[in-house]
Amino acid sequence: MSHLFISDLHLEEGREDIRHAFLEFLRRRAPAADSLYILGDFFEVWLGDDHSSALSDEVIGALSGLDLPKYLMHGNRDFLLGAGFCEATGMTLLADPTVINLHGRPILLMHGDSLCTLDEEYMAARKLLRDPAFQADFLSKPIAERAAFARAAREKSKAHTLESAAEIMDVTPEEVPKVMAGHGVTLMIHGHTHRPKVHDLEVDGMPAQRIVLGDWDKLGWYLEVDEDGYRLESFSIAKGD
Ligand code: MN
Repeated sequence: MSHLFISDLHLEEGREDIRHAFLEFLRRRAPAADSLYILGDFFEVWLGDDHSSALSDEVIGALSGLDLPKYLMHGNRDFLLGAGFCEATGMTLLADPTVINLHGRPILLMHGDSLCTLDEEYMAARKLLRDPAFQADFLSKPIAERAAFARAAREKSKAHTLESAAEIMDVTPEEVPKVMAGHGVTLMIHGHTHRPKVHDLEVDGMPAQRIVLGDWDKLGWYLEVDEDGYRLESFSIAKGD
C-alpha cells in the first residue's frame, strides 16, 4: 500500500506550468497509489465553491477521474474549499489537525500554519478567517467583492512576510514535540513553510520525525509512504505549457 502526500501547489491562473505538472502527476504517478492526501494551499486563492474558472473546472475534472481515496485539508489560502468542491471531486475534507493510521503507525497531519505561533499578527488573522460567522458573511458577498478582499489580503501577507524575521515565519521549534506528544505520535507531516525537509527529533524520549512537504514552484514535491517507510521526492517543473 502506497500513499501520496502533497501540499502548497498554490494553483492559480498564470501558472500553467504548475497546473500542467499537477495534471501530469495525477495521470502518471497517482493512479499507482492507494490514496492521495492534499494538505492545504492547493489553490492560491479560493473564493467559494459557487465561483468557477477554467482552472478549477479542469482540476475538478481531473481529480474526479482519479479512482482512489482522496483527502483534502484546508490551508491558509484555500480555507473556503467546501462541500461542493469535495462532492465534485470525490474528496473527503480532513480537519486540521487529523491523526491517520498507516501501516500500524499513527501519523499527525496538519497544514502547518497553526505551528507558527511566534507570528502573532498571523495567528490573529487566522482566528478571524477560520471563524464560521466571518466565512458565511464573506460567502454572501458578490464575487468581485470577495476577489478584491482576497487581493488586498495577499498584498498584506506579502508585505508581512518581507518585514518579518525568518524564524517567525517558520514553525516554533518548542511547539512541535508538544503537539506531537499531545496526539501520541512520533511522525508528523505538514506543509505551509515551503521548507521541505525530514527533521529528526525526540518526542517523550522516543525518536520521531517531522516531514515538511515542499511547495510547487521550480520543483514539484511529494511524499510517498509505504510498508518500507517514506520518501520525500522532488521533480523539475518545466516552464511553459
Ligand atoms: Mn500555507
